Amino acid sequence: MSSAAPVVWARTVAEVQRTLAAASRSGTPVVTRGAGTGLVGGADAGPGTIVLDLSRMNRVLGIDPVDGVARVEPGVVTAALDRAAAAHGLMYAPDPGSVTTCTIGGNVATNAGGLRGAKYGVTRDSLLALDVVLADGTLLHAGHDTVKGVVGLDLVGLIAGSEGTLGVVVGATVRLLPRPLRTATAVAYFATAVEAAAASAALATAGVRPAVLEFLDGKTLRAIDGLRGTGHADRGDALLLVQTDGFGAEEELEVAAAVLARSAQEVTTATDPAAAAELFAARRDALPAIEAKGPVLIEDIAVPRSRLAEAVAGVAAIAAATGADVYVFAHAGDGNLHPIIRSGPGDATRAAEEIFALALKLGGTVSAEHGVGLVKRPWLERELGPGALDLQRRIKRLFDPAGILNPGKAI
Ligand SMILES: Cc1cc2nc3c(=O)[nH]c(=O)nc-3n(C[C@H](O)[C@H](O)[C@H](O)COP(=O)(O)OP(=O)(O)OC[C@H]3O[C@@H](n4cnc5c(N)ncnc54)[C@H](O)[C@@H]3O)c2cc1C
Repeated sequence: MSSAAPVVWARTVAEVQRTLAAASRSGTPVVTRGAGTGLVGGADAGPGTIVLDLSRMNRVLGIDPVDGVARVEPGVVTAALDRAAAAHGLMYAPDPGSVTTCTIGGNVATNAGGLRGAKYGVTRDSLLALDVVLADGTLLHAGHDTVKGVVGLDLVGLIAGSEGTLGVVVGATVRLLPRPLRTATAVAYFATAVEAAAASAALATAGVRPAVLEFLDGKTLRAIDGLRGTGHADRGDALLLVQTDGFGAEEELEVAAAVLARSAQEVTTATDPAAAAELFAARRDALPAIEAKGPVLIEDIAVPRSRLAEAVAGVAAIAAATGADVYVFAHAGDGNLHPIIRSGPGDATRAAEEIFALALKLGGTVSAEHGVGLVKRPWLERELGPGALDLQRRIKRLFDPAGILNPGKAI
């Protein structure tokens, strides 16, 4: 075999089975790949590794509106599944920022989150059953195709988020929900980032459940203004974007807006889709605006929602101490912050390490949704503890005794 990584573009389950059986026999490592949008090096492949690309297994096999499920191949692009569901008045809820390019297989493997996670949870919450090819090539059907089912251990929950280290996902039965007929959207500007973070926590006890609750700090707003010529930073030094959905959307938004107005400098609401899209534009522009300034490290910590304000203040203190150029936006409803650190100014590596330590100190995690891959592996033992990590490595050996599936990643 040459030192370059050979690529198998599988089109069928049988091809995946044959690839893994052969790799097991020869002891060749296999890295499974969806769309390659992962942010932690999970799909990186070194020399002598087989890249198993599933992007051509991209059919929605069926949608059953009565059962509220879809059966899909792993290479289906997430937005394509949601569009197919929309044709039946249904919705596939998980919507990562990469929704127009990433695949369901990759989403399952990373247990991806998204903007609607505040109300609808992460990918694991939408999974009913998985078809998985194990390292030796055998095909396993895990989970239940029914909405309820408790027989056996929860293998679906275990495989979701395992980053291609336990098996290759070749099919999924996912839960679909009624597509909300109404949405209502608000944007609130605050004098400080800490006040915005505190206001997002106040929503948690206000009897509302926004589908979207996003936070952008002042540096991010200034970057967006620089890219788009907008005037967000003139209106405040932090922004919260809130969207409610469903039959009571407007009434629910009124309650949320009243809570935000207690500490916000300005609250703007929109109920028609065009005006709401304008309010969403700032959130969509956040990462491109920061990336326009040069290469970045995209971090992904989470803390309990009640500690979001402490986390925001802590990240700012770390930026000041290390001289790093750090921007923060967050899925505030989930306590999930994305500190974006520009490579170059100050000590970016130390800033990242201190941000991970801050997350753990606040009772959080070093990765809320992007995964561990290669880059977060050094933090595994510190977060999990030696006992839990050892058990997880033993589970990995049970699934993959020859250690061919994405070795050196995630676990
Ligand atoms: C602009 C941008 C925005 C993003 N926003 C979000 C966000 O909001 N939320 C979020 O969670 N992530 C986000 N991400 C990260 C990324 O899109 C997700 O991790 C996504 O789930 C990866 O899907 P993919 O198809 O690209 O997988 P890949 O990058 O190809 O693979 C990711 C991991 O999954 C494994 N894998 C892929 N397919 C399979 C399979 N069928 N079976 C077993 N293992 C498999 C790979 O080996 C690798 O470890 C974002 C990325 C970008 C670039």
